[in-house]
Amino acid sequence: MKFTDYRYERPDFEALSQEIKNLIETIQNSESLEQQLEKITDINKIQDHISTMQSLSYIRHSQDIRDGFYDGENDYWDEFDPLYTELFHDFAKAVAGSKFRDGLAGIFGKQYFALLDGQVLGFSPEIVEDLQEDNRLSSEYAKLLASAKFEFNGEALTLSGLGKYMEDKDREVRQAATELRWSFFQEHEETLDRIFDQLVKVRDKMAKKLGFDNYVQLGYINMNRTDYGPEEVANFRKQVLEEIVPVCNELYEWQRERLGYDKLRYFDLDVEYLDGNASPKGSPEWILENGLKMYEEMSPETKEFFEFMVERDLLDLVNRPGKEGGGYCSYIEDYQSPFIFSNFNGTSGDIDVLTHEAGHAFQGYLSRHIEIPELRETTYDSAEIHSMSMEFFAWPWMENFFKEDTDKYKFSHLSGSLKFIPYGVMVDEFQHLVYENPQLTPQERKAKWRELEGKYVPHKNYEGNDLLERGGFWFTQSHIFEDPFYYIDYTLAGICALQFWKRMREDREEAWNDYVNLCKIGGIRSFLGLVSYGNLESPFEDGCVKSVISEISEWLRGHKIPTAL
Ligand code: ZN
Repeated sequence: MKFTDYRYERPDFEALSQEIKNLIETIQNSESLEQQLEKITDINKIQDHISTMQSLSYIRHSQDIRDGFYDGENDYWDEFDPLYTELFHDFAKAVAGSKFRDGLAGIFGKQYFALLDGQVLGFSPEIVEDLQEDNRLSSEYAKLLASAKFEFNGEALTLSGLGKYMEDKDREVRQAATELRWSFFQEHEETLDRIFDQLVKVRDKMAKKLGFDNYVQLGYINMNRTDYGPEEVANFRKQVLEEIVPVCNELYEWQRERLGYDKLRYFDLDVEYLDGNASPKGSPEWILENGLKMYEEMSPETKEFFEFMVERDLLDLVNRPGKEGGGYCSYIEDYQSPFIFSNFNGTSGDIDVLTHEAGHAFQGYLSRHIEIPELRETTYDSAEIHSMSMEFFAWPWMENFFKEDTDKYKFSHLSGSLKFIPYGVMVDEFQHLVYENPQLTPQERKAKWRELEGKYVPHKNYEGNDLLERGGFWFTQSHIFEDPFYYIDYTLAGICALQFWKRMREDREEAWNDYVNLCKIGGIRSFLGLVSYGNLESPFEDGCVKSVISEISEWLRGHKIPTAL
């Protein structure tokens, strides 16, 4: 069976909602734990089926946003997803309030009920219309970005396609490509401001309807955070500011020296070396072939997993017109299949897809035996541990992809992982500011962003670019529009992945075993529960960031690549 054989059919909302309501009623009136269990299992199966249809629609729509059928299905899901949420909210409420709650908790565990309690708090039928509005606006943003078309160097390019020229070793070429990219955002500034302003307002409205002061608390609940809050996150950001920002400033200074410029400008940041960044030495087919070889050699588990992905065509890797930008990994429940989506563009990012998204997919594959949907999937903070750690576990095979550029790749990958963290926590702080102050105007929001850049990424020099100087960089950050409060998850997971990087240098086998065990238990535990299950340190603990960073900066110093000229 191949991905194209996976059958999509729009679910019959009326019929399903009747069936679910009947099951919920039985749960509520049930006189035995056994009967409740049986009905919960029935509902889990329905939930998996609905998710399957939604995933298939989402994937196929992103594969070609011009496809009329899936465009219509995408609109259907924007409208109906909140209605399904309502059904499952009633289910969560019934189970959370079950008279057999203790008995059920003995079977499903603490995390299951923590998630259900969050679902109950984070929804009410009163916000259905607002959720639909939120979906519609997020789709409008995605469509606007996917509609971008550029003529450059005689090629017709999308935003992703242009990326390759933005790291061209010819400074004039990359300046022109980067300016072209930002001219698209400046041209659509009013629309982007309007979309985001409406998103902030509608999210704030939902939070208030549910009885919260603002969207921050609701955002945390929506992100399924069951064991930490804004205070812990603020303490983590503080550690990043103190420990990582200074190391990054040094890295940018090395980069400037290496490139031999007076100052690093905003279009230079993606270029590490004058003779070009590390890039894969072959076609997309060749990359995939090498990927297969890598996973075959890595472990029996990865071999089985990747062969499954290739045999069933569960990878859509190559960039083409009409395809949505970015990359993601999805999971198709009824077929127990992960799916990987990306836009290869000839840069080292292509290999990161094969390791990062494959890390997510590997976890999905190893957790497929878990029957409860809420526990099969991990929360995003934990999910990014699986993906980012896989990027590092794949290091011994990087020579196959990068040949003579391997040292360059490793240096850029590790320093890039570090440089990402201040940016990541800045996105998070920006979102806190935005949702704590929903009355800010679009101009004020941009000014706040620029102010935060001065704090976390002071090396950014936007001289000559009006939009960026006014604080418009985040227009390109889709998470800010589509997935509020997601971003910190990458940085928390990043610190965990860097711990695995450190540990695999001491004892690869032990680190790998912990990693595989972590993948196997999916989301059975909360973020901090999984961190300790993987024998990692909590990023919130004072000193954690420092202990990871010192070894990494030492490695980077020892592997500093000399000036190319
Ligand atoms: Zn990821």
